[in-house]
Amino acid sequence: MIIFGNVMELNEILSVTGTDYLKMTIRLLEEADLASRIGDRSSRIALKPNLVSPSPPSYGATTHTEIVAGIITYLRKRGFGDIRIMESSWVGARTKDSMEIAGYDILCREYDVPFLDMQKEKSFIKDCAGMKLSICNAVKDVDFLINIPVLKGHCQTRMTCCLKNLKGLIPSKEKRRFHSMGLHKPIAHLAAGIRQDFIVVDNICGDPDFEDGGNPLVRNRIFAGCDPVLLDTYGCRILDLDPEDVGYLVLAAGLGVGSMDIQHARIRTLDDKGSGQEEPVPHKIVALSDAVEEVESCSACYGSLIPVLERLRSEFEETGRPWDLPALLGDKICIGQGWQGKSGRIGIGRCTRAFEYNIGGCPPEQEEIYSFLRRLIDIS
Ligand code: SF4
Repeated sequence: MIIFGNVMELNEILSVTGTDYLKMTIRLLEEADLASRIGDRSSRIALKPNLVSPSPPSYGATTHTEIVAGIITYLRKRGFGDIRIMESSWVGARTKDSMEIAGYDILCREYDVPFLDMQKEKSFIKDCAGMKLSICNAVKDVDFLINIPVLKGHCQTRMTCCLKNLKGLIPSKEKRRFHSMGLHKPIAHLAAGIRQDFIVVDNICGDPDFEDGGNPLVRNRIFAGCDPVLLDTYGCRILDLDPEDVGYLVLAAGLGVGSMDIQHARIRTLDDKGSGQEEPVPHKIVALSDAVEEVESCSACYGSLIPVLERLRSEFEETGRPWDLPALLGDKICIGQGWQGKSGRIGIGRCTRAFEYNIGGCPPEQEEIYSFLRRLIDIS
């Protein structure tokens, strides 16, 4: 059903599908009347894309530059001049590499917009709804934050979108600490500490399983709204996930960050292509993670291991071997900060260096993990 209107309410989600991402973005912003929402033409506006790791947006992990270009074009046309892009990659990757590979160096030059690398930024401590968290200083200099996450699966939290994307605004040391705190609680509290004023979600080809992409699922959709909890709940529906299974979402709703009441959301589709039934979302992660004992692992570490397991599983399938890695290796594969100082049998990363069989690195490279596990399989 197509519904047209002008005033965007908190419980509304605007959605559009197509392949001209720049034009689609501008259309969404016009429909949302973003300029009226911002108001003051001298507002300091920050755009927060997702540049988690060095890969082009077509890989399914990073925000498409066309969406960011669409937002800048829309804002400039309406007299907003103070625009900057802020982001940091995950621990283990340099933001500079990610922004270049995803095309943000060209974008920033063409549109004359500064890029602030949060890996180089100092931080301050903020009380975020009862939890003290370290946040990059640049956040203090923002009047209006536009979050531009990619809707993706995540090997530890099930999904990542509006709420989790704010992790790009904290220092690397704090990111590690988030993992040691189990991710969900600090993510929810961070969302209470940093207000997102408007959100444009890149649902063009996000990977339904892995935060760092590799298996893009093309949907060619962009959606927008003002409530990050509601948009993440909608994202769960798109990914065929139960939002109640996403711990940080439930916690954020409890902290008053937003509403999970998708039943009463008003979803306005700006074209007639977005309302049809979609193919079910293939999820690979559950079967693969059965072989792993993960305790507080960093995204980069776990995100390197899971694609290796997928590669090994497909090799097993090609040769007709049954996939039961723990039975074959005699144990599960351990990964994460929770194993530091403990002993065990098979461990991935520096945190498990006391293990009998260990591949070091922080995080280790995918190829190193593959060679390590391949050797273990071959001698088992
Ligand atoms: S080795 Fe430990 S600290 Fe390093 S990336 Fe892996 S889980 Fe994180």
